[in-house]
Amino acid sequence: MTIQNAPDSVLTTMTQAGRRIWLRPRLSLGRFLTARRLAAYFLIVLFFGLPWLPVNGFPAVLLDIAHRRFHILGYTFLPTDTLLLAILLLTIFVSIFLFTALLGRLWCGWACPQTVYMEFLYRPLERLFEGTTGKGGESRASLAGWRKPAYFVAALLVTALPAHTFLAYFVGVENLRQWMTESPVQHPTAFLVMAVTTVLMFFDFYWFREQLCLIACPYGRFQSVLLDKWSLIVSYDRKRGEPRGRRVSESRSMGVSALTVLNTPIPRHSDTPIPSTRGDCIDCHLCVATCPTGIDIRDGLQMECINCTQCIDACDAVMEKIGRPRGLIRYSSQAAIEGEKVRVLRPRVVFYPALLAILITVWIVIFSNKGTADVTLLRNFGNPFTMLANGQIANSMRLKVQNRTDKPQEYAFQLVNVPEARIVADRNPLTVAPDHAETQGFVIEVPLGAFAGKLGTIDVTLRVTDGQGFSKDVAARLLGPMNVVSASPAATRSGAEP
Ligand code: SF4
Ligand code: SF4
Repeated sequence: MTIQNAPDSVLTTMTQAGRRIWLRPRLSLGRFLTARRLAAYFLIVLFFGLPWLPVNGFPAVLLDIAHRRFHILGYTFLPTDTLLLAILLLTIFVSIFLFTALLGRLWCGWACPQTVYMEFLYRPLERLFEGTTGKGGESRASLAGWRKPAYFVAALLVTALPAHTFLAYFVGVENLRQWMTESPVQHPTAFLVMAVTTVLMFFDFYWFREQLCLIACPYGRFQSVLLDKWSLIVSYDRKRGEPRGRRVSESRSMGVSALTVLNTPIPRHSDTPIPSTRGDCIDCHLCVATCPTGIDIRDGLQMECINCTQCIDACDAVMEKIGRPRGLIRYSSQAAIEGEKVRVLRPRVVFYPALLAILITVWIVIFSNKGTADVTLLRNFGNPFTMLANGQIANSMRLKVQNRTDKPQEYAFQLVNVPEARIVADRNPLTVAPDHAETQGFVIEVPLGAFAGKLGTIDVTLRVTDGQGFSKDVAARLLGPMNVVSASPAATRSGAEP
């Protein structure tokens, strides 16, 4: 799949002299804008609501990095769940690959926070203060002097809301409320984090804007490898549209600007036969004027296209105006536009779901085997074993138990497969507070004779139970002298002795 760019341009928002072109895209009303508005408002409400929504005593989403625990929809992911999180991350990546192969950059145009907040929060605010492009707003220089600073202040205030909400995902609403109501001097670090987040978001939405999609976001760059000829994209139907050109003599003779074509009385198609030499595109440039990244979709698929569908709405309105069917620009695939047969089953559309199914199955198996506690058994540093004066071989271990319940629990531990071994521990059972972890060092003592014929190792199983249904077996390997032939203390020794 080829990705084209406008001729002679490096960036659609930069002049040949290297100066930035500020885009004021024209708002094009239509069915896609209505649908995107609904989706955007839903996502905005979801974003603001999730930190406040309690599930199992925690916010629906709380990424508590400071305490190394993520609360997601009622489940708490701990450092011991790294594997689960890694698989989850991998699943998200593969889903993005599949999603993109099937539906193109639907995410960019409909759900990416950059697009959602830019198009449905900041641009409406900007239009409120600075006017609407296509309705006088394009002559910004003539605007009353107060509008620009007023918009600056309004945008800064508006930014504080998503910026603070964004922080609530990491610190929780209670902490955030405390920080906001107390003096910054009491919480200088928190204040600094909040200030930096607000400034960064403001910089992005007030100044950087579409540049994030054009030069900073890696997703657009991956487009050429993630998409294929059959992926859904916003495309211009070249066969139908070309050769382009004004067919409406009135608008041409009146010297009508591209932006006012819609307001120009154009005879219905039934009244004005289309010359067979002309395509449906009347070259009104409305699809360009409405594009938030400043590209011309008629140049073909471009990396800058975020699939926002504004050009579809703009062009559909023009087509209706001139009495032609909608869809000169439409959701389609490159293959379909070129008249090729639609191919639903392609290698990547088979491979990605298969991989997803494996990942999801593994994730579910691991997740469903998670009990109400996490148990980790480790050897202590130092000598591999110690021979005691009474002829016992001692292995030093430590047990870490993470209580995942909301009540204190007592965890007892014992060896289940070596009857002659015994555990010496200061605390057994081990009491662990809710949602906390405790570590207990202990020693496993085994008679020397147990190593007879075992080549210096004995595999043991440590069982941890809480008396309320939780039981977990952990495997461990005891080390001892090699070549033990009897229980005699005079047997060959290796390792350290007291
Ligand atoms: S809006 Fe439609 S008719 Fe107008 S220039 Fe774009 S493709 Fe052509
Ligand atoms: S070309 Fe169309 S779909 Fe792509 S970014 Fe521009 S307006 Fe949106």
